[in-house]
Amino acid sequence: MASFEEDLNQRLAVLRGQHLFRELRRIDSAQGVRLEIGGNTLLSFSSNDYLGLADHPALKAAAHEAVARFGAGAGASRLICGSLAPFHQLEETLAAFKQTAAALTFSTGYAAAVGAIPALLGRGGIIILDRLVHACIVDAAKLSGAKLRIFAHNDLDDLEKILRWCSTFRSAADPQKRERQPRVLIVTESVFSMDGDTAPLREIVALKEKYGAWLMVDEAHATGLLGHAGRGWADELGVSDRIEIQMGTLGKALGASGGYLCGSRALIDFLVNHARSFIFSTAPVPAAAAAAKAGIELAQSAEGEARRTALRQRVSELHSVGLPQLSIGPGAILPWMLGDEARAVAVAAKLREQNIYVPAIRYPTVARGAARLRITLTAAHTVDDVQQLARALKTLEL
Ligand SMILES: *Cc1c(COP(=O)(O)O)cnc(C)c1O
Repeated sequence: MASFEEDLNQRLAVLRGQHLFRELRRIDSAQGVRLEIGGNTLLSFSSNDYLGLADHPALKAAAHEAVARFGAGAGASRLICGSLAPFHQLEETLAAFKQTAAALTFSTGYAAAVGAIPALLGRGGIIILDRLVHACIVDAAKLSGAKLRIFAHNDLDDLEKILRWCSTFRSAADPQKRERQPRVLIVTESVFSMDGDTAPLREIVALKEKYGAWLMVDEAHATGLLGHAGRGWADELGVSDRIEIQMGTLGKALGASGGYLCGSRALIDFLVNHARSFIFSTAPVPAAAAAAKAGIELAQSAEGEARRTALRQRVSELHSVGLPQLSIGPGAILPWMLGDEARAVAVAAKLREQNIYVPAIRYPTVARGAARLRITLTAAHTVDDVQQLARALKTLEL
């Protein structure tokens, strides 16, 4: 057997050979439109801080205040040493924002998914996922032990085929013998993280109701951006009150850090009792909760509206320069599909030479051979920033 180091180095060499090796780039500034990397200032189109709130004075002040009053750490899990007020204030604000009866927050969106899905169903259940859902949902579904079925991306016929297949188990269940019908959960995203397109939630809601399934929607890339006051894509389509579980992150447009689940009181009480990533993990720092609450309030304010307007303008400016390679959705994610991993890495490196920072997204974040530049715009970008990006992209046209 190879030694530990040899084994790892061999496997790293394979990654390098496939142009899939990743490395951290240290940044010596705050997250924002301009990043200091290795003594250079790069113009970034890589962040999910869509409203430009991560470095906003209101969020920073809220975090400072929470540190002064509640300290730096949380001490233990909220069920063990008591649940600090900033978490409750955040959850009340969040539930009011999403117009649900209740909300529960986690240290990350990843932890929210991994906590909720295995809590809600296990062996004997069936989980149906859109092919492009985020890794945290795939991991959560695997962890649950439920049967896993994947439908082609946004393909309603394929989804219905699977739901019909599920209902054969349901009719086989014998109520006389108190044999339980399998629980069926559909999970999709609202705005897809690496493609920027949206799910047909009205149609998916109609299908899950027709077949008696539950629906969980991950609004990570729509919360703060779409719908009334930034409530999300489900709100925009008028179906939020028909979705059992609304999930998202506090770390993208809301500018802070953490994950959330919104829904009925029963859902939240159930998760407090069963979500292992909530129960067996130290609560996040109170400053993160306070900053997230300030982010939600800001998203709903006149300033939030102005920031959404600015962001939409930047997206349409980039759209109008005539780069047919860019896919444009209703959010702020504009992927440029390149396919080949080596090419994506080379193009990202060429952009860095022009002091523009755009990540090359590769397997396993996306499928093999589906590498892309993932360009994201934020409300903090200026017209000039977008023009600079457009010029750089045009020099790359091959
Ligand atoms: C980023 C993301 C998550 C995870 O949220 P974190 O707070 O970053 O852990 C979940 N789902 C989707 C679609 C995401 O893009």
